[in-house]
Amino acid sequence: MQLPKILIVDDLKTNILALSMILKKVDAEIITAQSGNEALTKVLEHDISIILLDVNMPEMDGFEVAEFLKEDEETKHIPIIFVTAMDRHDGNSRKGYVSGAVDFIYKPIDSFILLSKVNVFLDLWKLRAGLKLEVEERKKNEEKVRYLSGNDLLTGLCNRRSFHERLQSEITRASRSHEKFALLFLDLDGFKKINDSLGHEAGDFLLKELSALFKKTLRNSDLIGRYGGDEFVVLLGNIKDKYSILQKLEELIAIASQEFHYETHIMKVSASIGVALYPEHAVVDTKLLSYADTAMYLAKDEGKNRFCFYTQELNEKFKRQLLLDKHLQTALQNNEFELYFQPVIDLQNLKVVGAESLIRWQKNKTLGFVSPEEFIGITESNGLIYSIGLWVLEETLKLLDAHPHLYMAINASSLQFMNNQLYDRLKENVESGRLDPAHLEIEITERLLLDNVHSSENRLLDISKLGFSLSIDDFGTGYSSLSYLKSCPVSTVKIDKSFVSTIPDSSDEALCNAIIAMASALHLKVIAEGIETEEQKAFLRDSGCDFCQGYYYSRPLPKEEFLAFVVKGLDS
Ligand code: C2E
Ligand code: MG
Ligand code: MG
Repeated sequence: MQLPKILIVDDLKTNILALSMILKKVDAEIITAQSGNEALTKVLEHDISIILLDVNMPEMDGFEVAEFLKEDEETKHIPIIFVTAMDRHDGNSRKGYVSGAVDFIYKPIDSFILLSKVNVFLDLWKLRAGLKLEVEERKKNEEKVRYLSGNDLLTGLCNRRSFHERLQSEITRASRSHEKFALLFLDLDGFKKINDSLGHEAGDFLLKELSALFKKTLRNSDLIGRYGGDEFVVLLGNIKDKYSILQKLEELIAIASQEFHYETHIMKVSASIGVALYPEHAVVDTKLLSYADTAMYLAKDEGKNRFCFYTQELNEKFKRQLLLDKHLQTALQNNEFELYFQPVIDLQNLKVVGAESLIRWQKNKTLGFVSPEEFIGITESNGLIYSIGLWVLEETLKLLDAHPHLYMAINASSLQFMNNQLYDRLKENVESGRLDPAHLEIEITERLLLDNVHSSENRLLDISKLGFSLSIDDFGTGYSSLSYLKSCPVSTVKIDKSFVSTIPDSSDEALCNAIIAMASALHLKVIAEGIETEEQKAFLRDSGCDFCQGYYYSRPLPKEEFLAFVVKGLDS
């Protein structure tokens, strides 16, 4: 708390000096004035706590000064003690009280009385100053609480709750003035990696930088909020149509994908944005948000670092995904999955060497047949792929238990290499002597190969060290790079059926030949998928392809039919 200030006003310097001497004992700053005018100026300049005011002064007397001070809101509460030589019974003292005095002290001054009076008022002043401070503090706290409840602590952007409120009022406003607006759901791609590898401080730094840049590129009338960890919501108000915001969307995408420097690191993420339009897509806040969110998932699905507008079809797709997700949760317990086996043929001697296990989901009463191409992706997002993957392995092992001479292949999702479940199960079965790893091949995607090169844990290598062979499925359709092929423990490539199905198209023939030549140079086996005609089979066999699968020989079959197929063979 600052020192209280006592203003002594007297036209005689000696009086001022005398009063100042007495007040030395008081813990206060002394300010002096020798006329009424000077006193008023000092009051304006300083935050005065008490005034000792001489009544008899030339030009403006003490009563006039007090009246002036009483008129002003700012100064009317300053306690004034009149210092006077007048008789205390004189009617003037009444005048003094009217003009604003709170007390009188009579000359000659009794220092004891003066000090006691001044101290009483100083105590009061201190109490008031304390209260004032408390009120200010409370106001500040209230403001802070209001800010915190509406703003995100880290980025300063508005938070989820206040964004909802603002969105609702924007809907009311836009409907009244027949305006359109766009709601954007923006999710950062690859943010988790930054947090995991460089730590939360780096992640926080990136979020702060990005928030500031996003905000800067928006108009004042637009609104941006932080919705969750690395999710933002943006409202672009009063737009003409969807085309008028394309440039803004591009700008946001560009901002998110620039490099940021943190300590010695360079950080880079990108953004996937979903856009829903008011009133075209929806007029209710929850719907707009969920549609923008759905469109954001599409943007992720289509490769990230892009924006997508919501469409009705997208909603149908999303609804279907939700339905499948719901039924998938219980599919394993309800025994709704089956494993089919598509025979693999040795092209050179036309013997059935084994099969690829392919999952089927066709026993669900509501859904009927659902293609693995549709549901495997969903099991990857809801995490069911791990248990389903182990089920596929177990069913394949059961077949191998009874027919150990066969060579089987299972498809494994990239996610199954992100933890140890698959590896542990394979290891257990090898160590217990149940499984000869030379008889089980694991089909992986090209994408996994690429990611694996960058990952420190090399589960592919671990699995191959157990004796299993790995094959690259759908070879030629993904991101294959020949150098990865060399450095990863892969023993087989499977030519994708899209190259086989167009044979005798000459460019696909050339492609197949190139793959076979490359595989042979790297000592890899080649399996051709999707052979449907005699011509395709003949071409691939003559080109030196080792194995094949396809409807030409057999569709994927239920277990008993497959075993019958094996017994029957091709030449009978
Ligand atoms: P994929 O591993 O490339 O399997 C080959 C797909 O081609 C199978 O489709 C098979 O039925 C089909 N196919 C085989 N021969 C021909 C042919 O001659 N012509 C045509 N047009 N198609 C043929 P399916 O069973 O629908 O499986 C689709 C994809 O789903 C598989 O592609 C695989 O990536 C995935 N998948 C299937 N089962 C599993 C599984 O148990 N686990 C995992 N992670 N993915 C699986
Ligand atoms: Mg496969
Ligand atoms: Mg394939």
